[in-house]
Amino acid sequence: MIKMNNELNNPIAEQQPHITVVGGGMLGLTLAYQLSKQNVKVSILEGAANLGGLTESIKIGDLHWDKYYHVTMLSDADLRALLAELDLEHEINWKVTKTHFYTGKGMYPLNNAFDYLKLPVLGLIDKVRLGLTIIYASRLEQGSELEKLTAKQWLTKLSGSKAYQNVWRPLLRAKLGNNYKKVSAAFIWAVIRRFYAARRGGLKTEMFGYVPGGYERIINKLVEKLSANGAQIITSAAVLSVTQNQTNGLKVKTHSHEYDFDQVIMTCPSQHVATICPQLTEAEKAQHNSLVYQGIICPSIMLKKSVGGAYLTYITDDKVPFTAVIEMSSLVEFADAEHPHLVYLPKYVPADDPLFDMTDKQIEEQFVSAFLSMYPFLTRDDVLAVKVSRSRQVVALSTLHYSQNLPAIHTSINGLHILNSAQIKNASLSVQETVKLANEGAQTFLQSINESGPA
Ligand SMILES: Cc1cc2nc3c(=O)[nH]c(=O)nc-3n(C[C@H](O)[C@H](O)[C@H](O)COP(=O)(O)OP(=O)(O)OC[C@H]3O[C@@H](n4cnc5c(N)ncnc54)[C@H](O)[C@@H]3O)c2cc1C
Repeated sequence: MIKMNNELNNPIAEQQPHITVVGGGMLGLTLAYQLSKQNVKVSILEGAANLGGLTESIKIGDLHWDKYYHVTMLSDADLRALLAELDLEHEINWKVTKTHFYTGKGMYPLNNAFDYLKLPVLGLIDKVRLGLTIIYASRLEQGSELEKLTAKQWLTKLSGSKAYQNVWRPLLRAKLGNNYKKVSAAFIWAVIRRFYAARRGGLKTEMFGYVPGGYERIINKLVEKLSANGAQIITSAAVLSVTQNQTNGLKVKTHSHEYDFDQVIMTCPSQHVATICPQLTEAEKAQHNSLVYQGIICPSIMLKKSVGGAYLTYITDDKVPFTAVIEMSSLVEFADAEHPHLVYLPKYVPADDPLFDMTDKQIEEQFVSAFLSMYPFLTRDDVLAVKVSRSRQVVALSTLHYSQNLPAIHTSINGLHILNSAQIKNASLSVQETVKLANEGAQTFLQSINESGPA
């Protein structure tokens, strides 16, 4: 989608510097939207053919949905406020979802205290300790001290080694793949807090929600607003370099164009920043390169039937090549589809994992055969379509002492700024945290524009 409208509605805006945001994911789009609302002259350069980044949509069979699974939570205040501005918040469908636990020997529901007590992988004392760990973590207000411990050290101390091995480790693997060994206790604390935020607010259970039409609809609405505010959006414009130009501004090169901007805000992963901005100091580049990113390989499968109606199935069986099963259609109603059953099989992996060298077909074969062995009532004929999605740099791992090594927003180069998801500290990656970061970043940039006066 290319929007060429570069004129701003409000003449005051001509006094403002021209800012470009590199990256048209939810972070870049929300940031540009917040700036455009204040009449800042803003453009977005997105490298891919479509906007959305991790929230981009794909077509699988006759379904059109997000390439990765997304839910909104009741506690996602900043995201819900954005959706309200887009006139979509009132359309969110909320639902209590189910969770299962697959051990290799069987599939167990895990939806209430009763299910929990019946879970075969733990004895009663371990279960009590595990329950107390969750209550303790959900009530802990500050996570910064937890950055000193690994998740394993903290969880083993609180819940015991059996509960760590049989419950926490599989849950960590479902979120992080083998990187779970590197993550600090602050990470798991943040995940527990996010899942229990609505309960802390007085609700007995957390509900998951989605906007009908998925993120494609949200992004289309954002694009409408951005265009109405005079922002220019250019897709298929991967930025190759950002360097200082002769007039104290910045030169941005893509494979086909060169642009001059007063300010550039990079929202893409840190390692891209280090490559694209060669004039950053060696120390700045080293800091970006020091962040450990993890990626994801995630086939989506369209099926003839449901696999049991649990939104999330955790997997403790190491032989299964993916780390969870997400039955999206247990939450989303794909009313128009002939076979409205959509399942994701995510596997989180390090950014340099050899799995990235495998073809889609090889991944499909490996993942689908393991998936079918988990659900004996399914046959290959029930699999109608498979689409493999992959991203090497999804999120920077919350390693030990993470918040002491965050990339700074303002760089040593005049006008060059970084606002990316690596700056989310002590929270798990979510669109909520992304939108919050974009809102806070927009405030910072507006303040510095006002302080420095007209360009
Ligand atoms: C499997 C999975 C499940 C998730 N589930 C949930 C969920 O249930 N709920 C939830 O709230 N969140 C969820 N998330 C997180 C959510 O997707 C992210 O928080 C959000 O999409 C991050 O947005 P972003 O803009 O920071 O990054 P990205 O979406 O990665 O956007 C970065 C953009 O920059 C572009 N780019 C990179 N390099 C360049 C370049 N050189 N030039 C131009 N453009 C460039 C990329 O193409 C991309 O579009 C999930 C994520 C994943 C992967």
